Amino acid sequence: MKLNKDKEINKIVAPIQKELNRLDQLPKKCFRKGCDLETIKKSHIVQENGIISKIAEDGWVYQLLGTWFDEFGYRFEKKEPSNAYTFKGFCSTHDAKIFEKIEKKEINFDDYHSQLLLSYRSLLYKVREKEISIGDSEYKLANKYYEKLNLSKEHQKLQLKAHIESMQQILEDKELIESNIDNENLKDYIFIKRHLPRLKIACSQSISFQNLDYNLRDYLKKFYPTYRIIGIFFNLIPGYNEDSVLLVGFPKKDQAQCLPYFEKMFASSENDLLKQINNILLTAGNDWICSPSVYLKYLRFHEKEIYKIVRQSEAIVYPPNVLRFNIFDYRFGTNLHR
Ligand SMILES: [Zn+2]
Repeated sequence: MKLNKDKEINKIVAPIQKELNRLDQLPKKCFRKGCDLETIKKSHIVQENGIISKIAEDGWVYQLLGTWFDEFGYRFEKKEPSNAYTFKGFCSTHDAKIFEKIEKKEINFDDYHSQLLLSYRSLLYKVREKEISIGDSEYKLANKYYEKLNLSKEHQKLQLKAHIESMQQILEDKELIESNIDNENLKDYIFIKRHLPRLKIACSQSISFQNLDYNLRDYLKKFYPTYRIIGIFFNLIPGYNEDSVLLVGFPKKDQAQCLPYFEKMFASSENDLLKQINNILLTAGNDWICSPSVYLKYLRFHEKEIYKIVRQSEAIVYPPNVLRFNIFDYRFGTNLHR
């Protein structure tokens, strides 16, 4: 019986997956205002040379990414650095020109303009993700999937509305960061930084502050009943001195909420901080890279657990203590951290 049921579901879901794939493959226009050119196929979220290459071993990295075709909705994929952590961002001219400052020489992690450039692509990556989510919801609504999946039409409409509202918010954040990139007199973001020993896991993600942890959401509801979703930049990248740099940015106008939270987080002991980063990477972000040794010798044995946590956190916000699993435990009992 179950097999038949699975087959039926597969029949329903197959066209949705096909549509998602089509939306993903569609050519996109360069993000630079006024540029009508098609994007190159692969802009790196963080640069290949100097960042992804520092995570790579024997010319490979592993990337955790969402898929529409796997049982768990996520998978670790082995990739060459030239293919890892990419999206359709800019035409070739703008991809080279806009990021010249952080691509051509060592990044100055204390320079505001470099901090913005380092974070900018993670936000644009979110725009692309949201475009697909909106297209997906529209497709399901137009083809009455709510009937096939036993959902109400109202539910499907609400989902679409939520995606559209979230897109508006992301586009507002995009305006803000672009104005700051283009005008050196504007300082609308605050960045805070901490150095850690070199880690073989890296990410550059744009995530909402409210999703960072369970307690935070409760706290914000209590003290800021009408809060808006706050977009923050979360970067964990290899530095230049055998270290990794944790660089977090948030809008200055939200500092009353964000600053105390991150100051406390950044003042934690190293192990506590790594646990908190772990919670964020598993429950608030879902796209990061690691070295092959970290994947093959450690994460591989916890794969299903990781997929389950990441998948569930799309729908619920985890209380942080529930997550006993720590991706940074790869450092213990092995020589992987050097
Ligand atoms: Zn362009």
